[in-house]
Amino acid sequence: MNLVFDGHNDVLLRLWRSRNEGRNPVAEFRNGTSAGHIDAPRAKRGGLAGGLCAIYIPSPHDFTLREPDANGHYATPLDPPLERASSLDIALEMAAIAHRLDQDGSWRLCHTTTEIREAMTDGVFAAVLHMEGCEAIDADLDTLEVFHAAGLRSLGPVWSRNNIFGHGVPFAYPSSPDTGPGLTRAGEELVRACNRLGILIDLAHLTEKGFWDVERLSDQPLIASHSNVHALTPVARNLTDRQMDAIKASHGLVGLNYAVTMLRPDGRDDAETSLATMVSHVDYLVDRMGIDCVALGSDFDGATIPNVIGDAAGNQRLVTALKDRGYGPSDLDKICRENWLRVLASAWHE
Ligand SMILES: [Zn+2]
Repeated sequence: MNLVFDGHNDVLLRLWRSRNEGRNPVAEFRNGTSAGHIDAPRAKRGGLAGGLCAIYIPSPHDFTLREPDANGHYATPLDPPLERASSLDIALEMAAIAHRLDQDGSWRLCHTTTEIREAMTDGVFAAVLHMEGCEAIDADLDTLEVFHAAGLRSLGPVWSRNNIFGHGVPFAYPSSPDTGPGLTRAGEELVRACNRLGILIDLAHLTEKGFWDVERLSDQPLIASHSNVHALTPVARNLTDRQMDAIKASHGLVGLNYAVTMLRPDGRDDAETSLATMVSHVDYLVDRMGIDCVALGSDFDGATIPNVIGDAAGNQRLVTALKDRGYGPSDLDKICRENWLRVLASAWHE
């Protein structure tokens, strides 16, 4: 089995919702459940040994993609901006679940790549705390310092929604990622602070202008934790060739997103999506950027994923498909783990 360190999941969102419905999120993760994609038993079965676990503030109404028209085209408007106070409450509740899982031994909150490797060796899920959209952070970045002290080691300035730090890219098919302005002045300060503190900056969900703002300001390798190839699936969330060239030049990476709407050429929300379709995006990313710049970013618990994968327990089916496609042992080590560990070590000043 090829152990995977994965660039993006929303298991904390699912566990936070369980908590709100009166269930015990720690027991649910530790003992397993039939809901969603990730818990400790299923992660173990699928060789999902760790990953970036997002604090993500859901909008008050449940987000859904706009219905496609007869041509399969859709353009979902951006969700309205959120208030900070209620966002901070939710972010703290999710961070508390992450810490309780750590205290329980159900997963291990990791702050260094050494800790990630130790957790993987010990067979404990290696969780890195990530923030997907910084609605909980104030413009003076006081809360950023506190979340960093609480273990935050990665963030995306925006989700597909605008906030004080920048503009999000909408879910639209077909669409260029160049949909509006990029970072605000506060967003530029956030990038500088992340460089100083050693917090990874994630480009997923930024507009193309925001992408180039980070490229101009940041010392880190450029990372899109869960994004795919625009030339294959022209959704606004996917990356153009030019963006991939910049990621390659910075020695960064792209994590393959398993979301079917970002994999399928027709952009449809249809879980009957093949392993070959997933592999086609990996092939394109490797052709364009080289084997050192391609990794995985499943979006487990955050998206419709192919039925052939199903949940975390099915994760090795993709690895096997890549092996069958001709990727060798060292290629698979890089895609499954080592590329992520290299960029994390760089962003974290190790
Ligand atoms: Zn996302």
